Amino acid sequence: MLLIGNGTVLTLGQDNKVIAQGGVLIEGAKIKEIGDSAELRGRFPQAQFIDARGHLIMPGMINTHMHLYSTFARGMDAKSKPPKSFRDILEGLWWKLDKQLSLDDVYYSALGPLIECIKTGTTTIVDHHASPYAVTGSLNTMAKAAREIGVRAAFCYEVSERDGDKITEEGIKENADFIAACASQANPMVAGLFGLHASLTLSDRALAQCREAAQASGSGFHVHVAEGIEDLQDSLAKSGLRVVERLNKFGILGPKTVAAHCVHVNDAEIEILKETKTQVVHNPESNMGNAVGAAPVLKMLDSGVTVGLGTDGYTCDMFESAKVANVLQKHAAADPGVAWGEVPQMLYSNNPRIAENLFGGKFGELREGAWADVIVVDYIPPTPMTAANWSGHLLFGVSGRSVETTVVNGRVRMLNRELVGIDEEAILARSRELAQNLWERI
Ligand SMILES: [Zn+2]
Repeated sequence: MLLIGNGTVLTLGQDNKVIAQGGVLIEGAKIKEIGDSAELRGRFPQAQFIDARGHLIMPGMINTHMHLYSTFARGMDAKSKPPKSFRDILEGLWWKLDKQLSLDDVYYSALGPLIECIKTGTTTIVDHHASPYAVTGSLNTMAKAAREIGVRAAFCYEVSERDGDKITEEGIKENADFIAACASQANPMVAGLFGLHASLTLSDRALAQCREAAQASGSGFHVHVAEGIEDLQDSLAKSGLRVVERLNKFGILGPKTVAAHCVHVNDAEIEILKETKTQVVHNPESNMGNAVGAAPVLKMLDSGVTVGLGTDGYTCDMFESAKVANVLQKHAAADPGVAWGEVPQMLYSNNPRIAENLFGGKFGELREGAWADVIVVDYIPPTPMTAANWSGHLLFGVSGRSVETTVVNGRVRMLNRELVGIDEEAILARSRELAQNLWERI
């Protein structure tokens, strides 16, 4: 047993409480009890004690749209002209990088950000992967990296026809095999989704084929939806339908599907997203960086669509993503009064619901029976913090680098800013070597 105590416990969830001098008792992979720290310590003297020293004890962060493979782009010269459009970014950067990835590159490009997740308190990620010349085995390779670092992760391979039929088939098989392996293991630390790149790189035939393969496995999809205007233009040209309409026609949407972005969606498409109970994920930094527009997040939430929050590989730090989501929506609406409630809802309520759909169990809340994904944050409030105003404290007072202890599935992965059983220096040294080699191949 493990007792994280002597801190301010922020439980979140429906019966959100702030407990001064509180503690969280963990048994195995789940939370056993929440309460007064001294009282718990008295009753469970045998539990390993982690002293939070008055800091904040709260649920781990969840990132519902991530690209671990994007790591080696950091500092890379893609030898392209400056991008003028979203398509230029795909062709000039991402599709140059992903073609060069070997399985060894995939492994090391995953380890680095997974360590960063532990350091910034992100305990669960939903990844979207591409390595067209190293498809087979790529998802298992990343699952191995996630297991070693100790981050809960869902993986998928993005099927795309941009590299020809053989690679398309390989992508379909990689998804199906990985989903089947996850189903047979029933391991709450790993899950599979069926990955699709986006409508703009998939023909009707491929969409139908993917739907058939995914249905056989009982899985939902993880797909980029109407991220750039190009996706909408392509869909209209191909089918006369808008992106959400086209994907819906092929049975890609639904309560198990994760639709990243949804920037260029109209009211009719929002209605379809709601009706199909599709889970949308907003990625504010990525959208701003790619200059693709501001997703109608407030409208989607208002219409009853489940919208979560991701990073699209921009960062591992969900506190950062929330800060940007907050200012982006205010800026786009030219209204300083909006998004105060919606951004916390995306990160602290909707992301846990998306994770529960993928992994089962209870997420995003410190309570008996929930997964023991718990972080200690170096934050002592300068003003009173209550169950009513906690989100303002997190928004303005906390960043990922404030996290000092990270526990995932009951396992301590970082204790007082020391990683546990992870040789970060050696991993990042090898990562730099492989990145250099990859850059030379571009
Ligand atoms: Zn993405």
